[in-house]
Amino acid sequence: MEVKTSLLDNMIGVGDMVLLEPLNEDSFIENLRSRFDHNEIYTYIGSVVISMNPYRSLPIYTPQKVEEYRNRNFYELSPHIYALADEAYRSLRDQDKDQCILITGESGAGKTEASKLVMSYVAAVCGKGQEVNKVKEQLLQSNPVLEAFGNAKTMRNDNSSRFGKYMDIEFDFKGDPLGGVISNYLLEKSRVCKQPRGERNFHIFYQLLSGASDDTLLKLKLDRDFSKYNYLSLDSANVNGLDDAASFRTVRNAMQIVGFMEDEVQSVLELVAAVLKLGNIEFKPESRVNGFDESRVKDKNDLKEMCELLGIEQSVLERAFSYRTVEAKMEKMSTTLNVAQAYYARDALAKNLYSRLFSWLVTRINESIKVGPLFGLVMGVLDIYGFEIFEDNSFEQFIINYCNEKLQQIFIELTLREEQEEYIREDIEWTNIVYFNNAVICDLIENNQNGILAMLDEECLRPGTVTDDTFLDKLNTICAEHQHFESRLSKNSKFLTDHSLPHSCFRIQHYAGKVLYRVEGFVDKNNDLLYRDLSQAMYKATHSLMRQLFPEGNPAKVNLKRPPTAGFQFKASVGVLMKNLQTKNPNYIRCIKPNDKKVAHIFTDSLVCHQVRYLGLMENVRVRRAGYAFRQPYESCLKRYKMLCKTTWPQWRGPARDGVAVLLTDCSVPTEEFAYGRSKIFIRNPRTLFTLEERRRAC
Ligand code: ADP
Ligand code: MG
Repeated sequence: MEVKTSLLDNMIGVGDMVLLEPLNEDSFIENLRSRFDHNEIYTYIGSVVISMNPYRSLPIYTPQKVEEYRNRNFYELSPHIYALADEAYRSLRDQDKDQCILITGESGAGKTEASKLVMSYVAAVCGKGQEVNKVKEQLLQSNPVLEAFGNAKTMRNDNSSRFGKYMDIEFDFKGDPLGGVISNYLLEKSRVCKQPRGERNFHIFYQLLSGASDDTLLKLKLDRDFSKYNYLSLDSANVNGLDDAASFRTVRNAMQIVGFMEDEVQSVLELVAAVLKLGNIEFKPESRVNGFDESRVKDKNDLKEMCELLGIEQSVLERAFSYRTVEAKMEKMSTTLNVAQAYYARDALAKNLYSRLFSWLVTRINESIKVGPLFGLVMGVLDIYGFEIFEDNSFEQFIINYCNEKLQQIFIELTLREEQEEYIREDIEWTNIVYFNNAVICDLIENNQNGILAMLDEECLRPGTVTDDTFLDKLNTICAEHQHFESRLSKNSKFLTDHSLPHSCFRIQHYAGKVLYRVEGFVDKNNDLLYRDLSQAMYKATHSLMRQLFPEGNPAKVNLKRPPTAGFQFKASVGVLMKNLQTKNPNYIRCIKPNDKKVAHIFTDSLVCHQVRYLGLMENVRVRRAGYAFRQPYESCLKRYKMLCKTTWPQWRGPARDGVAVLLTDCSVPTEEFAYGRSKIFIRNPRTLFTLEERRRAC
């Protein structure tokens, strides 16, 4: 990094953690705290921005602030997310370098707000004009649409994104926006049917019921009363500070701006209504002569209304809730569903219906905002769940943490690459940086032969009785072998087995810490199966979206292989994402929440400490400080420190590089402490810089 005055002068704490002395977890957190107490929510680690959620609106996002940060060098002003946005935008526009902005942090830490701040900053400083403004508007308005369908109130965040999002914004050579492409990752679809205590379903359900006109509700056969719907939890239907009715108007308006036709909006709302109706279908057992119970729909009114909304023949769906077709040795057979299986089928259908609708929305938005074949410049913004470790960690946490391992890997790779490139440019000898390489953990999870995901897939596809426990047995056996083999190569095996493990659990040593996973539900969630009778019933529906949403229900395609598992799909999309990110210049925003009460002014050390660990921030500083912690162009170094030496003061005549050489010798800086680059002086240790700074202050 280049040291500019602002990072050292008049600063609360230090503006850049690279300058922290001594560097340890306590001083790191103390620095965050003292800055937070003074409303300085942003702090750098080199070019990485740490953002503390203030939980109140600060007057730091005004048009004046935008002007202040516009076209200024990164280290010139006090740390701000705008500085990062400006730097990224300018190097895109002026140096033709594709950029990506990677935002991580736990739920409620401020990732989504940060992504919106970056987007609005870029929108404010890039080109003007009617066409350009229309594009900007569409890009920005895609947010409220996706938030309505993909966000929900949780214990951690009243507006929590329940999906990962990556958006590429495309620019022409002048730096004017042309359009974009959005990718979505792993919507938390279990929320459709069931919400943890104190949490809500996705916003759109409440918005629709509160904000739609009587006429619309009548057409959708809906009742305004939340309590009429099984899928809507009651204890927290109304959230302070959320005006569902007003949000509904915002969403409708946003959909229009993004380019949805009136009939498309109607179709979308019909599906939302159908999900609510589906949740109200209940089952009762009917005893059969053979002694088995067979499921029957209890009250047919909701079934009827749902079928009307989707254009499905009622008898077809009704049958699909009582029987399923199985194929054994090329023969089709019908088996009955008991009540529990019928509920399972119903919920699987609701989750699939909703999550496929969500993906359809993303595709539809992309149709509106995408540009033809890409040849312009791209800025990608990634707003994705951070490392998660709860008391109970399941398949979702496993998948999310895998994604974070990949992001960490790319962080290390790109940071080191950037360093290396600068060293080459400056003709400085490359010194190897020692760091923890998490490739071995990624491999443990994603290896095609014996990675955990591959084993889970194998287990899911195996005929015979498959349970979460058979999966765990397999994992234990194979990983133990793997471990044995690996231990000869490396001492750090990351699959941890010991006798203290609770029943049905496995433990992984992630880069950010150990996590215990419970296998319950792994097989089912990975399988993500919808009985074929149901997908075929959906495919036959006359509703305009159903064929697109359930292509596997096409009877002409019954012999197609089963759809890929959830784990397989996620791994593939993470792979595509990583490839995409690798081609771009990365910019990092690490978000931290100061307390878990969602309130301003409170900074809980233990909570922050936990996040600092899981975000790998200490490692982050160490990588930045490894090799040469600082570099500064000769001219500015000379200008700042020339008063420390008579020869260079007040005016040095001759090349700046020689002046710096004289200066450093005169100040008795040991030669192993610095190296001469082509245009910059490289300083190894922050202490050297502090000594210079102290002497300067004493002058
Ligand atoms: P995440 O996406 O990481 O889960 P959000 O970005 O949704 O978290 O932020 C959670 C809440 O915190 C927001 O709804 C907002 O109230 C508050 N918040 C986050 N960042 C800021 C900020 N920079 N200024 C003011 N409030 C913020
Ligand atoms: Mg979010």
